[in-house]
Amino acid sequence: MLEIKNLHVSIDDKPVLNGVDLKINSGEVHAMMGPNGAGKSTLTNVIMGHPKYTITQGDILFNGKSILDLEPHERSLMGLFLAFQHPKEIGGITLEEFLLAAYRAKQKHLHPDNPPVLVFRFKKMLKELMEKFKMEKKFASRYLNQGFSGGEKKKSEMLQMAVLKPSLAIMDETDSGLDVDALKAVCDGIQQVQRDSEKPMGVLMITHYQRILKHLEPDHVHVLKDGKIIQSGGKEFAHELEKNGYENL
Ligand code: ADP
Ligand code: MG
Repeated sequence: MLEIKNLHVSIDDKPVLNGVDLKINSGEVHAMMGPNGAGKSTLTNVIMGHPKYTITQGDILFNGKSILDLEPHERSLMGLFLAFQHPKEIGGITLEEFLLAAYRAKQKHLHPDNPPVLVFRFKKMLKELMEKFKMEKKFASRYLNQGFSGGEKKKSEMLQMAVLKPSLAIMDETDSGLDVDALKAVCDGIQQVQRDSEKPMGVLMITHYQRILKHLEPDHVHVLKDGKIIQSGGKEFAHELEKNGYENL
């Protein structure tokens, strides 16, 4: 589904990714680990089309086609989703209004001839999803992420994922800052989306910790260091990494 080929990326002429190759098939869970500053967030931002980065070499294919010329919203409509490491607070728009707009845009893309989704239907769906993520109803009427705690912001990202039902969800340290219950709720939510989707959702999970991988078993674990994937393995590889660190790789 996603194929990254020999990707080289610079920011302000400084090379950050130095030849990344990665393939993710439908339904696969990939964990990406690695030290701070390795380029993990850069990789996620580049997949989504952040304009700040310059791709100097290589390509990113989604369902066999290069997506490098597409805008972020076009990539989103194709089925890519990124949960940010640091979700932004946006005043003036409520979480519910934001999600409704995103949902309608996606539905319009999927079914151009259908009338817009009715608000009451959307509200019903949102209420059920919020219950799954153990979010209080009042969050829907608050401004997007404003004053949300770190864990609440991560849940708000997961809610957006559940509304959009992407074919590939990229999560940048979604587990950081979550307490045990919130982590469980988020993982349950992800698995729910995987079950609800027609085609099994792929996941690229950036993480430092083994604990989320207990709930969400990875098929592949990779280490990104100095802008390159230096080693890959199965789920047991994550245990080793947590125990031994990245120094000796
Ligand atoms: P990670 O997510 O693995 O911790 P990042 O992708 O955030 O790493 O950063 C990789 C490198 O790119 C770091 O050296 C970082 O300082 C640099 N970098 C990231 N974003 C920017 C930016 N906007 N401007 C300049 N340098 C950046
Ligand atoms: Mg990062």
